[in-house]
Amino acid sequence: MSSNSDITIIGAGISGLLTALEFSRAGASVSIVEKNRIGRESSWAGGGILLPLYPWRQDPAITTLLVQSLELYPDLAAELQENTGIDPELVTSGLLITQNPDYDAAVDWCEDNHFTCQNPGPAILAPFNGDFLQPLWLPESAHARNPRLLKALQKELQNRQVRFLEDCSITGLEQRGSRIRSLQTSAGKLPVQQLVLTAGAWSAEFWRNLLPQSVNACPDIFPVKGQMLLFEGEQGLLPHMVLDDDGYLIPRKDGRILVGSTVEHCGFDKQTTEAARARLEKFAIRLFPPLANCPLIAHWAGLRPGTEHGIPYIDRHPAIENLSINAGHFRNGLAMGPASAQLLFDLITGHPPSIDPAPFRFDTLH
Ligand SMILES: Cc1cc2nc3c(=O)[nH]c(=O)nc-3n(C[C@H](O)[C@H](O)[C@H](O)COP(=O)(O)OP(=O)(O)OC[C@H]3O[C@@H](n4cnc5c(N)ncnc54)[C@H](O)[C@@H]3O)c2cc1C
Repeated sequence: MSSNSDITIIGAGISGLLTALEFSRAGASVSIVEKNRIGRESSWAGGGILLPLYPWRQDPAITTLLVQSLELYPDLAAELQENTGIDPELVTSGLLITQNPDYDAAVDWCEDNHFTCQNPGPAILAPFNGDFLQPLWLPESAHARNPRLLKALQKELQNRQVRFLEDCSITGLEQRGSRIRSLQTSAGKLPVQQLVLTAGAWSAEFWRNLLPQSVNACPDIFPVKGQMLLFEGEQGLLPHMVLDDDGYLIPRKDGRILVGSTVEHCGFDKQTTEAARARLEKFAIRLFPPLANCPLIAHWAGLRPGTEHGIPYIDRHPAIENLSINAGHFRNGLAMGPASAQLLFDLITGHPPSIDPAPFRFDTLH
């Protein structure tokens, strides 16, 4: 198999697809190697909230990527819908946060980042059976329907002649000096110019297996399982997102309601469990009693690419000159996705980055 692609990307989740879009827009030829199916791992499994949970409790580097991504999302969603006919369902529904013991920090964060936050009126609180503690209403908070966003991205990239190698495993790589020359894959040998690792929770595993001589620089990325439930609801039943302690509900345009999520450290195990189902279901019905009358139609799990502080690695490899990484977005890969891809594009092409790359570098994160 031959390929003269300028950019070869490993992993077709949100990070890989958005990175591919950046390069394709700039006129580069792109190939994406995906070991399973396109967009079916963490990026598919998530909730699609475009805001970290309690962003004021997170590292400021996360806010930087978030703020820039939120500026990019409306145009991205509109462009995808127009070009592909697939609606990523970017909806600014607003988010109610029922308990805010760190209310002042929340208000300060919102002010600093020009994010409207208000005291919710009785109409916003009424449908919920929460233990309210200084509740907050963020009317500008949005969510996307991640499976549709991924499908739209895939179609857009296919229209742009991006080459997808699906169900393709990488068994080795050929390195000469400080450059990777080619990948050995189940579809044959694939020559590479620039290689970008966007393998989510599997990024460190790839690194350890295929870059053993560079193991000291291995990113500290580990799988963190999250389980979700989906209820069938009538359109408009849940008017907006609600976050109650560590659980949340998200409405879809068609009335379906997502309930999330667990945070479990159990390696690459992606099984759902009865205990998690029972806990999430009880949480959801207590918080929003009408769910008791809605059928529970799905239960799944995904593996987040965990990092210690939730800060992704977005950097060029310190020694291998044509290898870069955009991975480790933990709980916020959708929320930070567009800006992460843009930053990596700037680093590879030598454009001055619009945000400070320092927090996302190998030497900062190690
Ligand atoms: C339950 C849950 C809820 C979430 N909710 C939200 C939310 O509301 N908002 C938000 O912003 N984020 C959320 N997230 C987090 C978000 O989903 C992740 O941060 C994001 O999807 C990571 O994207 P990714 O592309 O890096 O990884 P993935 O989507 O996992 O994609 C990585 C891809 O790489 C492929 N791959 C791996 N190894 C190889 C290899 N060797 N060769 C080829 N391909 C390979 C995989 O098969 C996969 O397709 C949630 C996650 C979960 C699990």
